[in-house]
Amino acid sequence: MNARADHSENFRDRVATIDASGKRIWIYPKKPSGVLYNARTVVSIILLAVLFGAPFIKIHGQPFILLNVVERKFILFGIPFWPQDMHLFALAVLAVIVFIILFTSVLGRIWCGWACPQTVFMEMVFRRIEYWIEGDAHKQRQLDRAPWSKEKIFKKFLKHSLFFGISFLIGNTLLAYIIGIDQLWEIVTDPPQEHIAGLSMMLLFSGIFYGIYARFREQVCTMVCPYGRLQGVLLDANTIVVAYDYHRGEPRGKLRKGQDTTHLGDCIDCRLCVQVCPTGIDIRNGTQLECINCTACIDACNRVMEKINRPRGLIRFTSMDAIERGEGLKITSRIIAYSVLFVVVTGLLTYLLLTRSPVETAILRTPGVLYQELEGGRIQNLYNVRVVNKSFRDYNIQLKLLKPRGEIYMVAGQNIRVPGDGMAESAFFIRIPRSEISGDKITVVIGVFHGSELLEKITSRFVSPED
Ligand code: SF4
Ligand code: SF4
Repeated sequence: MNARADHSENFRDRVATIDASGKRIWIYPKKPSGVLYNARTVVSIILLAVLFGAPFIKIHGQPFILLNVVERKFILFGIPFWPQDMHLFALAVLAVIVFIILFTSVLGRIWCGWACPQTVFMEMVFRRIEYWIEGDAHKQRQLDRAPWSKEKIFKKFLKHSLFFGISFLIGNTLLAYIIGIDQLWEIVTDPPQEHIAGLSMMLLFSGIFYGIYARFREQVCTMVCPYGRLQGVLLDANTIVVAYDYHRGEPRGKLRKGQDTTHLGDCIDCRLCVQVCPTGIDIRNGTQLECINCTACIDACNRVMEKINRPRGLIRFTSMDAIERGEGLKITSRIIAYSVLFVVVTGLLTYLLLTRSPVETAILRTPGVLYQELEGGRIQNLYNVRVVNKSFRDYNIQLKLLKPRGEIYMVAGQNIRVPGDGMAESAFFIRIPRSEISGDKITVVIGVFHGSELLEKITSRFVSPED
């Protein structure tokens, strides 16, 4: 997908932020402005409000979202999930992956430019602070080249203090998603020696975020992010991306008064699209791995087109097929296959979520204990039961033998009390009249009840002298 007039592919030999000797090229993007930048600002404000606000939301006293990977405790939209729900988690991950593949093959990297937390923080928070303190690109460049002075020390100190403060806030928010806002508050308010591990995590996260936004920056997108690396296989000529219309733009050339420019295309080679690019690329070279679809170059070029009285959209959201052959988005077999797969996976996930039992019961014959023969010709087996309560409501569980005829005798108390988001264990006997037993091991069906509500049916084996 090369749009260069000279068809040189040299620019693909290395990423735009590394020179021929392997040294980092620091990017000073010009401050973007325009309709799309304003729209991105609104989207970012909404996303940041959700990101920072979600840990404070509680439903019935429980977090709205909790991703405690350390204690393997997860709450999504107020619903607790246990390690026993791993199949749901695996399906949800699969659904997200299929959605990302489908979305990317149609709309390219729009996620990266508009919704990815890395871009939202980098371009809408940290970069704006940088513009505010150090000025636009050329002033930042001048400041970095200038010898140390009071002004430079002040500006750098102020910028990096704010950067660390915001990184601390982001680190704490991430921690709130993992341990919950209440525990985070305890770490903040209790004496430090009581939460050495929590405080260490806080500082570690803050340090990592500070390092990313102060130094590493766009290299997260171009070198680290696996999604970014996958673009080569996810995109094709039918995908909508930020693209330069080289049919319209080439041959490029500067507008000079008094010179005949009728042989030139619409690109006046002002390089504004390059100057605003946060990853330092020239979109006129064609679709590139580094492009995060932030649309800053679209805004910049549209302003130029307006000034020179040419139609907007020399750089726009479009596909290479559209530029080359004027074809709109085609519903390809790839898009159909991904869509079908997505519908199947989300359908299955929805079904499993809707039919998910609030408790999960495991019943096993007690190891090492054989059957016992009771008076009256009955046989009994001993079982262990463990009930996991996957909701925040308390349950009083009763076990009833549904098949065959017989009875359940609980070793300790008739009911098993399982607190919300908790677990309980007990033991019980199943007693079956000999007349019900024929042949080998028989299968027993046990109903798990809360009052009259049947929550689950569990099958197990029953051994008898017939074995
Ligand atoms: S901003 Fe537009 S006109 Fe200027 S160099 Fe880029 S593509 Fe050409
Ligand atoms: S080429 Fe344009 S859309 Fe892509 S990263 Fe650069 S400015 Fe953003």
